[in-house]
Parts: sequence; C-alpha cells; structure tokens
Amino acid sequence: MVLGRQTTQQDLDDDWEMTHEFIHTAFPSVDDDHSWIEEGLATYVEPIARVQRGFLRPEAIWADMMHDMPKGDPESSDRGLDNTHSWGRTYWGGAQFCLQADVMIRQQTQNRMGLQDALRAIVSAGGTIDQDWPLRKALAIGDTATGTHVLVKLYDAMRDTPKPVDLTGLWKQLGVIRDGDSVRFDDHAPLAALRAAITRTPVTGVILPKP
Ligand SMILES: [Zn+2]
Repeated sequence: MVLGRQTTQQDLDDDWEMTHEFIHTAFPSVDDDHSWIEEGLATYVEPIARVQRGFLRPEAIWADMMHDMPKGDPESSDRGLDNTHSWGRTYWGGAQFCLQADVMIRQQTQNRMGLQDALRAIVSAGGTIDQDWPLRKALAIGDTATGTHVLVKLYDAMRDTPKPVDLTGLWKQLGVIRDGDSVRFDDHAPLAALRAAITRTPVTGVILPKP
C-alpha cells in the first residue's frame, strides 16, 4: 500500500486495494494451483463489502461486474481453473466462480444465505491466511454452513474443465440492464431479490464472523 504526504482524501475514498488485501486475510492459504479462489474472492467480495459499508452504490459495482467479468472467460487452451494460471482466469475466472456460487447458494436457501455466510464460517473455523489448508477443507466448511453442496460441486465442475459461465443470461435473470456507462435494475426479473440481497448490509451492520 502506498500512503504518504501526497495521498489525498480522494485517493483514500476511491481506494479498493486495502479492502482487497484485507479480504485475503480472511481465507486460508491454499496451494498455488488454487490462487484463483484467493484472488477471485478478493475481487468479488471487495466491491460488495464497500457497498455494504455505504462507500459505493450497487449500480456502480454491477456495472463494473458487467464490464469486467467477461475477462474471466476461458480461452481455447483452457484446462480449468486449477490448471490455467493466466491473469484473467485467476482474478476474473475466480470472481465468476464466486458470483455463481453466491447466486446458487441463494437459490438453494430461498435467499436466506449467500457466499458471505460460507466465508464467515470458514473464518470462524480458523481459516485465515496464516493457516495452510487444502482447498476442499475450506469449501466443505462453507457448504456445511449453508446446508448446501454448492462450493464443492462447483469446484468439481470448474477445476479441470473450461466451463463457461453464461454471464449474459445471468445479468438478465438478476435484472441488471446496461444503461449507457451505468446499469439500471429490473426489479421484476426472476432473480431480482437475490441481486438485492447480495449487496444488502447484514443486520448486524458490520461484516464480522459469527462469535
Ligand atoms: Zn489479491
């Protein structure tokens, strides 16, 4: 992090890196083949956390997701997330995994739980960056917390196969519609309630692991 006399208030208000790096601390260290989950989580959760804390508007981050998520699409030489270590697949392929997982957990829990519930459980079980864990251990703890098999199943589907994500279909289902440089929301879309829940501030008002 660069912080010094020339740092302005605006620089701090606009900063995303500090949030990104802090998110890394809240997940165990996994083998290098799984860097995509570490970077994908930080990439996906960072803007959502900043909306939940009131620093960004939801429209802004969904517009960014619409713009940036395709950078994670597999290319012709792709061999799945564990075997393809390009920048796009690591950051945005990982973020695609997280977005899909969030939506699927919410679909399977009638929108009562999401990816953050899985992540809180992993931290509560001691899964922080100073611990070396097998990736499957973290995913299984997350799944137990949500009462689903979303994380492990999605991992098995994406780890060694170039599984494309239908982003265009997903935006439509979530009710995210491009509008110039920004987006507008269709609250009558089939998954509009899930989209709203993804950026809702937790009732505690803070994003902390359960005690
Ligand atoms: Zn990172």
